Amino acid sequence: MRPLASLLILCLAGCAAAIRGPALSPAQRFGRCLKSSVDGDVFLSSEQPAAVHEEAQLWNRLYSNSTPVAFVRPATVDGVAAAVKCAYGAGVKVVPKCGGHSFMGYSARDGTLGIDLSRLNKVTVSADRRTARVQGGTKQGQLYYAVWKQAGNTTAVVGGTCPTVGVGGFLQGGGLGFFTSQFGLACDQLIGLQMIDYQGRLVTADQRQNSNLLRAACGGGGGNFGIVTEFHIRLVQVPPLLTTSQLRLAGNQTAVDFMLWFQSHVLNTASHKLAFDLRLSTTGKNVAQVQLNLRWPGREAEMRAALVALSLLGPSSPWAPVLNPKNTTFEAPWILTAVADDKSSVPKTNTPEDLLRYEEIWATRRYLKEKSYCSLEPLPAATWARLFQSLARSKSAILVHRMGPKTAFAQVAPSATAFPWRKALFCLQHLKYFDNPEEVASVIAGLKDAKDVLAPHMPGMPGYVNYIDQDISPNPLFSYYGANLGWLRQVKRQFDPEARFSTNPLSIPPAAPQ
Ligand SMILES: Cc1cc2nc3c(=O)[nH]c(=O)nc-3n(C[C@H](O)[C@H](O)[C@H](O)COP(=O)(O)OP(=O)(O)OC[C@H]3O[C@@H](n4cnc5c(N)ncnc54)[C@H](O)[C@@H]3O)c2cc1C
Repeated sequence: MRPLASLLILCLAGCAAAIRGPALSPAQRFGRCLKSSVDGDVFLSSEQPAAVHEEAQLWNRLYSNSTPVAFVRPATVDGVAAAVKCAYGAGVKVVPKCGGHSFMGYSARDGTLGIDLSRLNKVTVSADRRTARVQGGTKQGQLYYAVWKQAGNTTAVVGGTCPTVGVGGFLQGGGLGFFTSQFGLACDQLIGLQMIDYQGRLVTADQRQNSNLLRAACGGGGGNFGIVTEFHIRLVQVPPLLTTSQLRLAGNQTAVDFMLWFQSHVLNTASHKLAFDLRLSTTGKNVAQVQLNLRWPGREAEMRAALVALSLLGPSSPWAPVLNPKNTTFEAPWILTAVADDKSSVPKTNTPEDLLRYEEIWATRRYLKEKSYCSLEPLPAATWARLFQSLARSKSAILVHRMGPKTAFAQVAPSATAFPWRKALFCLQHLKYFDNPEEVASVIAGLKDAKDVLAPHMPGMPGYVNYIDQDISPNPLFSYYGANLGWLRQVKRQFDPEARFSTNPLSIPPAAPQ
């Protein structure tokens, strides 16, 4: 080439570069991709650090300090897909956030793209009121309210106890609540889903296609396989009124005797329709106490008859004389039982609209630590006694979720879904809220004290993945997935082979290629 022509070409290239401006850094290209393709809010930490920090605030204040590179809040499923594609191109990992209630803060992570799904909250009940399509960013309260509005008082959701929890994490982790014994886990009602995979493609799973993904989405935990943008769930039919009752008994020996009776009698004989959960704690004077949280699908008289038949109440009951006479019993339509189940400090109007007061409930968020244990065997008297003593030392409470052979929960085989502990008699949740982060070491010590009491009876420490805790055992993936881990890793390899959604220490790793 002649020198003059070369000079001209160089000059033209330089001019073009000058017109284009300086080359963009990968981070700038990523930001530009998000801004140009996501239909919704886009917050880059380089431009709006305060907005990203705000998005990273989770229910547990202990884990609200992460530093994602960006957060988006898409308005549509296409927006979710576009954000995932940008992240894939930029080599950035992706974290979906629904209700933000992950106990370990797994819905906002350092160096990732956070996808806040809160604008995807549409709920559509089918004409026959038997199923609903629920978008993946819906909160439980929004779901209950929408189902009640569209289907009335006798159609219900198998849900949990807190309206601000998101369906995204709750359903995929399992979903325990007052209907567990009658209808099974919330995820046992899952009949299909739609998911955006790691490359931004839409995947459908139901009984006919990708049924392994559907199976994995029931207990496999949120955030492992992709971003679920729609859950298709079964609804349940309930009577116009349900009865709720809270009873209490106290006394060190009485409480232990009651727990033995609960294990040998209630778990083996109580109707599956009777919700029978317990709260174990101690009084101000360190005396063991048990609160019985009962619910019956029907009128108060029917519940009383069921409790007399169970020998909890009535002339032949050993417990009637010691049960606190100031019990609170009320009848209410299902939707108002959901309102009552919210134990936040926000004053209630006792209307279904209480379920939508997300901002007010969110404002009450605190610090918390917790552990869970699913017990496959009855515990001996000495262990219950030591557990109450431990609760007195740590001034904390344990919730006991009834399971066992009579329940619908137990009718599903342990390998039929990802939730492995279907043979559990009950799951315990040990949870402690606190207001000063400096208390964390003493709170952890209190939880460990109780864990040491329980550990000899719980080989492998079976736990509930929605009450996630990375210190549950030396092998947390066994604790949460048991023998199902092998096939869950295969599902992970099929839908997220590059582990683009693996953003926390308990993410399910993809199976190694064969
Ligand atoms: C106050 C409170 C009350 C609770 N009550 C109950 C109860 O009654 N019963 C019960 O079983 N559990 C209960 N839980 C536990 C709760 O079910 C889990 O913490 C659950 O994972 C929270 O879901 P989330 O969507 O709110 O949380 P997030 O923190 O948003 O998500 C949890 C995990 O799921 C992922 N995820 C979220 N949405 C999606 C999606 N659409 N697709 C893919 N992945 C997603 C996230 O990345 C994260 O890894 C409670 C927790 C709290 C804090």
